[in-house]
Amino acid sequence: MSVKMQVGFYGHVRQYHNLKADIDKAIVDVLESGQYVLGPALSKFEEELAAFFGMKYAVGLNSGTDALWLPMLAMDISPGDEVITVTNTFFATAESIWITGAKVVFVDSEPKTNLIDVDKIEAAITPRTRGIIPVHLYGQCTPMDKISAIARKHNLFVIEDCAQAFDAAGDTFKLGDLSDAVATSFIAQKNLGIPGDGGAIVTDREDIMKEAKRLRNHGSYKRSHHSFGFNSRLDDLHAAMLSIKLKHIHEWNDRRQEIAKVYDTALAGCGLKLPYAMPGYRHVYHLYVVETPNGKRDDLLGYLESEGIDAKCHYPIAIHRQAGFPWGKEAEIVGGVPNSEYNAANCVSLPMFPEMNQDEIDYTIEKVLAWCKSNL
Ligand SMILES: *Cc1c(COP(=O)(O)O)cnc(C)c1O
Repeated sequence: MSVKMQVGFYGHVRQYHNLKADIDKAIVDVLESGQYVLGPALSKFEEELAAFFGMKYAVGLNSGTDALWLPMLAMDISPGDEVITVTNTFFATAESIWITGAKVVFVDSEPKTNLIDVDKIEAAITPRTRGIIPVHLYGQCTPMDKISAIARKHNLFVIEDCAQAFDAAGDTFKLGDLSDAVATSFIAQKNLGIPGDGGAIVTDREDIMKEAKRLRNHGSYKRSHHSFGFNSRLDDLHAAMLSIKLKHIHEWNDRRQEIAKVYDTALAGCGLKLPYAMPGYRHVYHLYVVETPNGKRDDLLGYLESEGIDAKCHYPIAIHRQAGFPWGKEAEIVGGVPNSEYNAANCVSLPMFPEMNQDEIDYTIEKVLAWCKSNL
């Protein structure tokens, strides 16, 4: 029997302590500069972000949600249109479509990776379909080669929901190579997170970049308002912190992969379904999600909590089962979504963050195995 420990789910404060000198200096520099909104720290970060992706443009926004829907607005997505996405994702993916007035068309995820089931997409395409939003869930890319082949065949846009997969990659493609735009989020709990909210669009399309820059700033371009717009700017304090963190994200993700490998090896054969990483893909393990057999999710979560381990659940209720989800004209499911429902009933996210230490990893493994032994 080991001593009882507390294992958290996030490493935000440890990450701050590791970077404290740089972060504190960046904050003071911005404060002393007097330029807090649409200032030089934001422009600098946008250039660095675009370069990180190897793409032409990046636009800093106030959230990942806005990074999803502003490109759609730039492409005139509106009522009467349909946009396809997956039920197994965070609510915001669907909201972003709903906000434009287009119908949200859901297809199921596939059981191995829990990513959108690419083979189910074509059945959901109608003459009104305008685009697809694949979600790089848990830190793993969707097979974008297949998605973009479907999109080209039917003349559809593709926006990648990369909120969970910053710095992930496919086997033959990088993020952004095979889409119109990449949308990402910097909210605290994401792999590249800040103390607050933020998001960005990365794109090679000048029209999307320009329109997003206008829309985030009340429709204003060169001091005159060309249309209505919004307030969706990434502020300079957060941009300055992101410039620092961007230099570390790759090594942090490498560390997540290391922890995932330790989990994979220790938990193999324990009776839980473990994450599946596609060969050749760079999975960045935003989340390490296991599935219990037979709806025992809450049992495992409760046990881990009683042992001091903060495990979570992404996501306990599939989007179409959420009380707030609009039915009728505004959303539709094509082909049933049994895998998303199975996943919702069984998924447990184990603690996973780069600052986790070996004792915390070992303790988590020990407790998960103990639960499996008496329950499976
Ligand atoms: C976090 C997240 C979002 C939304 O990002 P916000 O910055 O919170 O608006 C969208 N999609 C997915 C898959 C996410 O995980």
